[in-house]
Amino acid sequence: MPIQATNAQPVDLSVPQSPPHAVSRLGLHAVARLRATRLARSLKPFIARGSRKERCAGCRVMHSHCLCALRPSVAAQPGFCLIMCDIEPLKPSNTGWLIADMVADTEAFGWARTAVDPALLEMLADPQWQPYVVFPGEYVEATERVVTAVTQAPGKRPLFVLLDATWSEARKMFRKSPYLDQLPVLSLQPEHLSNYQLRRSKRDGHLCTAEVAALCLELCAEPHAADTLSAYLDVFTKHYLSAKNSLKVDWEDTVHLRLRALTEPAPE
Ligand SMILES: [Zn+2]
Repeated sequence: MPIQATNAQPVDLSVPQSPPHAVSRLGLHAVARLRATRLARSLKPFIARGSRKERCAGCRVMHSHCLCALRPSVAAQPGFCLIMCDIEPLKPSNTGWLIADMVADTEAFGWARTAVDPALLEMLADPQWQPYVVFPGEYVEATERVVTAVTQAPGKRPLFVLLDATWSEARKMFRKSPYLDQLPVLSLQPEHLSNYQLRRSKRDGHLCTAEVAALCLELCAEPHAADTLSAYLDVFTKHYLSAKNSLKVDWEDTVHLRLRALTEPAPE
């Protein structure tokens, strides 16, 4: 007889059930941990759209379209600090997850107006990092904070602080997080955006979090990591949308071949 659930305890979807993929090999990454914590705090289980079909805990796509086997890992100099609005880690379409999949030094923190995680303050104060808040310069009052290039101070690594939220939430987060006030603001320039969008034949002017991260990687001379993250995002999008529309994924199409070319070791 199936065991009947007697209370509204959320099911912890973040624990991988089958071992072959990277999440279980490496332990949960920062966004997966934040998702698990957020789920545990929910009074009601979070029902993502289309979540009636079971999703893989490693990539959040339905098992039939799992892309865990394609998860890249690159050695990159910079780190990422994702500050996520409350609901963001629960969305299966969140692309901050992909950054954490690929860049080992990625941390993720939940945002609240009245409190800040001490671990976030510690990370921002850690002398190994040169933090930049990535945000459009035209919305920054103190214009002297705005920079358009990444400068690498000796002995420091760039740390990109990304506000992972909708645009209106991100603006609120930026205004109401006094601990960010002292940091330089890296403002991505129209020429960065248009070059990037040209290459990706995207014209709507809107970048998702993983695309912003790819641009940051480009700006600090990590073109391989930048390309790999873009390619991984394309593969994720393909799997995610194919699952949603009940379409089969062609593992030999251009997006898959591009990611494979970037992640396979070069022939000797
Ligand atoms: Zn998976």
